[in-house]
Amino acid sequence: MTHYDKIILVSNRLPVHIEPTGDESWEVLPASGGLVTALSPLMKRRHGTWIGWAGCADHVPADRLLADFSRDHDYEVRAVPLREAQIQKYYRGFSNQSIWPLFHDMLGYASFDTANWEQYVDVNSVFAETVREQLWGNSFVWIHDYQLLLVGRALRDRGVDQTLNFFLHIPFPSRDLFARMPWKVDLLEAMLAYDHIGFQTQKDLANFIQCVKVFVPEVTVRGRAGRGIARFGGREVRLGEYPISIDFDEFNQGATQPGAAEAAWYIRENMKAPFLMLGLDRLDYTKGIPDRFLALERALEKYPDLQEKISLVQVVVPSRLNVPEYAGLKEELDALAGRINGRFSRHGWLPIYYVFNSLDRTQLLGHYRACDVALITPLRDGMNLVAKEYVASSVDGQGVLILSEFAGAAQQLHRGGLLVNPYDREATADAIYQAYTMEPEEKRRRMRRLRAEVRRNNVHKWVGRFLSEQVSEAATTSVS
Ligand code: UDP
Repeated sequence: MTHYDKIILVSNRLPVHIEPTGDESWEVLPASGGLVTALSPLMKRRHGTWIGWAGCADHVPADRLLADFSRDHDYEVRAVPLREAQIQKYYRGFSNQSIWPLFHDMLGYASFDTANWEQYVDVNSVFAETVREQLWGNSFVWIHDYQLLLVGRALRDRGVDQTLNFFLHIPFPSRDLFARMPWKVDLLEAMLAYDHIGFQTQKDLANFIQCVKVFVPEVTVRGRAGRGIARFGGREVRLGEYPISIDFDEFNQGATQPGAAEAAWYIRENMKAPFLMLGLDRLDYTKGIPDRFLALERALEKYPDLQEKISLVQVVVPSRLNVPEYAGLKEELDALAGRINGRFSRHGWLPIYYVFNSLDRTQLLGHYRACDVALITPLRDGMNLVAKEYVASSVDGQGVLILSEFAGAAQQLHRGGLLVNPYDREATADAIYQAYTMEPEEKRRRMRRLRAEVRRNNVHKWVGRFLSEQVSEAATTSVS
């Protein structure tokens, strides 16, 4: 990284929240989360610039507030000027109703609207314009995720020839699914304007290469497991697999703090079951929460000795409620939890403790510590950080991870976790029973493997791997 004059990160949302504190006053608070934790040290060290949407209403003076914030911190945050009407079509429309479902293999939820696409193209250009204004000397530009697939090409259209990096946090779909995207060739060609693209798993990388070969036949691609180079329009694009992770030490140490232990104690006291399973997800149809409830119901039918012994603590974090599919999912969950609890509950025991709210840090760690099992069964997930956080927080070495084979995390955690197909209700019910009856020695053995994996491949390593790929590319370019 030493030969770069400036680092610029670009993501849909800035790593800050702007909260109202009075009639005409606001405060800017730093956001938490894995990406911010991982990238903040680098940004501070290099006095970088983070560009994104401020997430506030049109009338909030975001530029002034963010300038104050930047002065007090070691890196700059800069808002992309977007109006509510643009957000509606670019973010809620094309990003979340076309790309999100299609890339998560959920074609039934996908819709394709030309006006949304056009706004997506326009907003990606607005992002590119904001990035261009910030370029200086030899800048390192790293653009993140599915909302910004076209920013690279929009920068090239503006004559930018600097090295552009991109990381996709969500899965990349198979060629048969991607074929349904009306603007597929345009999207792929635009992605090929980056110099370096990272994916979460080998499968995502392989899917991308397949799509490129089929839909942009003039591209040549060569590669080996986890790496590839595409040649298009006289340029080379480096492709790689970089599974994102978490800050292991932060969770490992946080989970041993008195606050977390106390929160865990309260959770166990309040739930009238000796064996607790945790579900913790944003409200999203990709997370497989209804299927999880039905698998639990099946387990209670099939293995009656589980009744009054196990409970699922399901925390659902509100998300995207202004998209109709998400509001519908909320209603479905309310009804299912009510029906299953109505069918089985006895003597104060409930099969499902269902919380529709977000958790603060201490409560999050308390939940990880209190629960004997994490039941993480997304139908499809780019990675699933909750799985890794549960492992890092299992400081007593006893927790069991039941994990969907369709989560990116399964590629790293398959040896210690119990992998399930979340569409297979019978098998998921069996895995619940297996976790319940597992001998303590086997639990410890499995958790040891899981913890070693997450400790070794933590988020700092992820950043380093992505950057070193970049550095070696730059070195090669300058030599040749
Ligand atoms: N999380 C949170 N607040 C909560 C519950 C969870 O911020 O109330 C965090 C959790 O710690 C994790 C992230 O949200 O870091 C969820 O990441 P994941 O990859 O599992 O799923 P995503 O929501 O990104 O699809």
